[in-house]
Amino acid sequence: MTFMELLIKFPTEKDIVDYYVHIRYGDRPVCNHCGSIKVYQRKNNVKVFDCNDCHNTFSPFAGTIFEKSSTDLRKWMYAIHMFLNGKKGISGLQLQREIGVTYKTAWRMLQQIRLAMGNADNQEFFDTIVEIDETYVGGKPRKSNEHDDNTPKGTGTGAKRGRGTDKTPVVGMVDRNNKKVFARIAMPNGEGKKLTARQLMDILKVVSKQENNNTIMTDEFRGYDPLTKNNFVHLRVDHTKAFSDNNGTHTNNIESFWATLKRGVYGIYHHISIEYMQRYIDEFCFRYNNRDNDMFNLVLKQSVLVG
Ligand SMILES: [Zn+2]
Repeated sequence: MTFMELLIKFPTEKDIVDYYVHIRYGDRPVCNHCGSIKVYQRKNNVKVFDCNDCHNTFSPFAGTIFEKSSTDLRKWMYAIHMFLNGKKGISGLQLQREIGVTYKTAWRMLQQIRLAMGNADNQEFFDTIVEIDETYVGGKPRKSNEHDDNTPKGTGTGAKRGRGTDKTPVVGMVDRNNKKVFARIAMPNGEGKKLTARQLMDILKVVSKQENNNTIMTDEFRGYDPLTKNNFVHLRVDHTKAFSDNNGTHTNNIESFWATLKRGVYGIYHHISIEYMQRYIDEFCFRYNNRDNDMFNLVLKQSVLVG
């Protein structure tokens, strides 16, 4: 879709407000103060609604990624479209040129879109068999002898794996059954430390209903020891012997996600500060988890950040 085609689909900003209202509220918008459906869109300012019951004035974009933006909504929709359809996303510089905004605005728009991508409900994540692994992202560029994607883990020096380096530890998991991925920075507030058992368990609490007795497959990292104590069925794969045991114990799915993530991060973005690292990880998780879904509408749905 070109920008011209988007303008044919959404000739005015009102068309987008109507489209967005439908996605956010269903049939009718609801007053965010009293809950009444007797609300009316202003003719001269289509982003503003008035409530007939309590005389509240509100915007359907309150509490969303669009809230503080004065950028034309058609530019927003085109930005989302391009970001999702470019296989590698789109850079702030490209977006700036395409829709005619400043670089600062373009950069902020992309960060807001990533924020929506990460705004997913992960409550039902854990299903049956889950592979867990951790990786290390960012920091200094890798030297040519550090092929940590190809070198069997646990061999050679510990530094190969990245544990204890200045990179940022990221814990990730893939559910074998629903093929969903979830990944979190282990320590948003500091770099250069090893992943600890407590950090691992904190991340697991987000996505796991512990009474389910999930089966978890990991490598031999000692940090995973607490899994056994916390009612998980814990199977370990020994990477020094083979990449996969004969009994199906392996972590190949999450490892292949790491490869995609690293290709994306190192290929597109030269440096990501730890402050924004989670948003980029969320972007790649969203793309992986929703490759068969209508990602455009899903981003709009997840653009509501509160309430
Ligand atoms: Zn009201």
